[in-house]
Amino acid sequence: MIRERLIFEISDEGKKGFSFPKLDVPESKTVTENFPLRDEIKDFPQVSELEVVRHFTRLSQTNYCIDKGIYPLGSCTMKYNPKLNEKIAQIPSFLSSHPYSDQEMMQGNLKVLKTMEDLLAEVTGMDAFTSQPAAGAQGELVGMMLIRAYLEAKGDPRKFVFIPDSAHGTNPSSAHICGYKVKEIKSNQQGTVDLDDLEKNMNEDTAAIMITNPNTLGVFENQIKEVSDLVHSQGGLVYMDGANMNALMGICRPGDMGVDVMHLNLHKTFSTPHGGGGPGAGPVGVKSILEPYLPIPRVIKQNNHYLFHSDYPKSIGRIHGFYGNFLVVVKALAYVLSQGPDGLREVSETAVLNSNYIRKSLEKEFHLEYKTPTLHECVFSDKLQKKHQVSNLDIAKRLIDLGAHPPTMSFPLIVHGALMTEPTETESKADLDLFIQAMKQIAKEAEENPEVLKSAPHHSYVRRLDEATAARNPKLRWEP
Ligand SMILES: *Cc1c(COP(=O)(O)O)cnc(C)c1O
Repeated sequence: MIRERLIFEISDEGKKGFSFPKLDVPESKTVTENFPLRDEIKDFPQVSELEVVRHFTRLSQTNYCIDKGIYPLGSCTMKYNPKLNEKIAQIPSFLSSHPYSDQEMMQGNLKVLKTMEDLLAEVTGMDAFTSQPAAGAQGELVGMMLIRAYLEAKGDPRKFVFIPDSAHGTNPSSAHICGYKVKEIKSNQQGTVDLDDLEKNMNEDTAAIMITNPNTLGVFENQIKEVSDLVHSQGGLVYMDGANMNALMGICRPGDMGVDVMHLNLHKTFSTPHGGGGPGAGPVGVKSILEPYLPIPRVIKQNNHYLFHSDYPKSIGRIHGFYGNFLVVVKALAYVLSQGPDGLREVSETAVLNSNYIRKSLEKEFHLEYKTPTLHECVFSDKLQKKHQVSNLDIAKRLIDLGAHPPTMSFPLIVHGALMTEPTETESKADLDLFIQAMKQIAKEAEENPEVLKSAPHHSYVRRLDEATAARNPKLRWEP
């Protein structure tokens, strides 16, 4: 395969992307004199239009993306993002509105924000939402700050936050950044929170429990009501990581399970693109006891009029410039409105069905550490393949050859050699079958020809990398 060179390396003195006919009028200096045009940038690539087009087209084709095929990256919910959302976000009045515009000029935008916050409250059973946080992890931090502010107002912020060992990795960081000590709570045989372990540890130093539901094993925390009753009985609060709400929408509501505060990921459940560090949104929902502490400004409706309101003396303050990533909210609202309530429920049902189809189809070939029925994702391990010295890394790399993005690897930590697989609802049965076939082929190769796995990928643009060296000592120059 030909390696794509850097655009600097295809540059040649004098090549241009355009050419104008010779002037048939006298040259005027006024334009160049009156505009601060930049001098030539040293070593700026000089290339033709065709070279630019081919260079970037080829680069774009070396990337795997959801528009190319299945992307079953567990916990990340890489579902297809309908192009309609993009079209709506590109409506000129959204696209070109300026955050410093007068509120009178932004009534439509404010209505979008308020409508979305109200709809999210309805879906989750919470009382109020803010869509300021830019990501799930920032939502968690905001949630922890709200809990701290609430407990501080009562005179004691407390010391500990409990986090089950099946929680998402961002949870402990968020609690820690907010000044809490993290205590890990064990999972039981079913892969859910061990109530006995929680009860043993619970006391009046406990500020909160952060519980991911469904958890990263894809298992629904069916004792969440008991968990929240127990935590509440000692004055603690319940944070739910709702990034996986795509398994619950229209079926059950965290607000009915004793959850006090939660976040959602618009860039997962609500089909706005993510990855590559692009903008996301991690709206935070609260029960009314925490509402006075929400970040300012808040969007409110008064006499049929929308406005930013900042007069909340107990608020934790502003946590993002302006009001978060506005266009992400526009895309997510387009998604919610185009699905409607029944559509959202069907999304969750299909996500769960698809995941269980994969789980059932591969349960002979790949080990399942937990036998509990799962929702939107299932976690296989490499235990059976380890007998042939094949690891989850080898399986993941071979999947690249076979046309699929690998599942999330080596997470959650409680499953050794994990392959956490989340197909999402947007895959057809035919595409699920292609993935299942590829996985079955890999299981067979592990027995018959493990070498082909250990040296995979064979057909990708880049072969297997020495990942430690690549991270520590990246080679950024092309060498012929
Ligand atoms: C993705 C995810 C997060 C973090 O969300 P970011 O937007 O990546 O910060 C938190 N919890 C769970 C369960 C997740 O899947």
